[in-house]
Amino acid sequence: MRAFSRDALPGRVVFGAGSARRDLAAEVAALGVRRVLVVATARGEALARELTGSLEVAAVFAGAREHVPGDVADAALAAAEKSDVDCVLAVGGGSAIGTAKAVALRRPVAVVAVPTTYAGSEMTPVWGRTDGGEKRTGRSPDVLPRLVVYDPDLTVGLPPEVTAASGMNAVAHAVRAHDADPVTALLGREALRVLTEGLPDAVAEKDRTQALYGSYLAASAFAVAGAGPHHKLCHTLGGAYGLPHAATHAVLLPYTAQVYAAGLRDLAARIGAPTSLRDIGLGAGDLDDATRRLPHVGGLLTDAYEGRWPPHAS
Ligand code: NAD
Repeated sequence: MRAFSRDALPGRVVFGAGSARRDLAAEVAALGVRRVLVVATARGEALARELTGSLEVAAVFAGAREHVPGDVADAALAAAEKSDVDCVLAVGGGSAIGTAKAVALRRPVAVVAVPTTYAGSEMTPVWGRTDGGEKRTGRSPDVLPRLVVYDPDLTVGLPPEVTAASGMNAVAHAVRAHDADPVTALLGREALRVLTEGLPDAVAEKDRTQALYGSYLAASAFAVAGAGPHHKLCHTLGGAYGLPHAATHAVLLPYTAQVYAAGLRDLAARIGAPTSLRDIGLGAGDLDDATRRLPHVGGLLTDAYEGRWPPHAS
């Protein structure tokens, strides 16, 4: 066996149906924090207020948006400072959790995450922020959630098309782990197995536990493996053209991963995930602009724009 090094990450995970409503208050109290800022999107605010109703909440910031625009990050930080919080609790998908991380990057707070999608941000020390169409990302132990409460009941309202796209975001995390250290790669393989089994059932609205468990495993593997070229591509397109993050993963992953994962396109089609950048809102002019910015993957971008499969060899 080849030699390897591995940085394991800390953090407590509570997983189970009903856990958010049953355990969240006691779990947050056990962290020993004093003042909590709840973060959500405008759409997720009602759920966030309901789940945190039994907590002492200092303030609610319900302005989270995808790709963490700089003005949103600044407004969330201002809310945290005004209320003098030492904990930021995000309820929602990667948009809410990313906004909580943006606060933690600039103020010492404990981050708590209650995810409602399969984006996986809750398991990673990765932050992102978008200013003037440029999305920057980085790693910092300060933004890694100290507590994550996974409750499959919270994903019940996720529409099938969001489930499919977000599920492919999780698959991208699992695939990324293939060339990491052997423990992380093992986690990634198991994540891929669980997601392949669980996502069709989640999209069919039969069972969502497996899909959420798979997304947890995948995000844990990705958190250690770190982002690769596929993620760079998704962040550039998302930050510059406002493409939805999960759907961008769903479209691009079968192209970027074709060498070792020829079955992904079939999974995406089977669960009804989007399969072309044009269908998720990239304009023809944007394609030209993106090809100029990313000339080394120009052929791949054109194929993914058209939804052409198998892609042209380039
Ligand atoms: P999101 O949080 O915007 O959620 C996607 C959609 O699902 C939204 O329309 C939202 O309203 C809806 N939604 C969420 N929960 C719902 C529920 N329970 N019921 C009904 N609808 C619900 O987006 P996302 O795909 O979860 O995350 C994308 C963001 O997260 C991007 O900004 C991306 O860069 C970031 N991200 C970061 C990491 C990381 O490690 N830092 C990892 C993955 C994604």
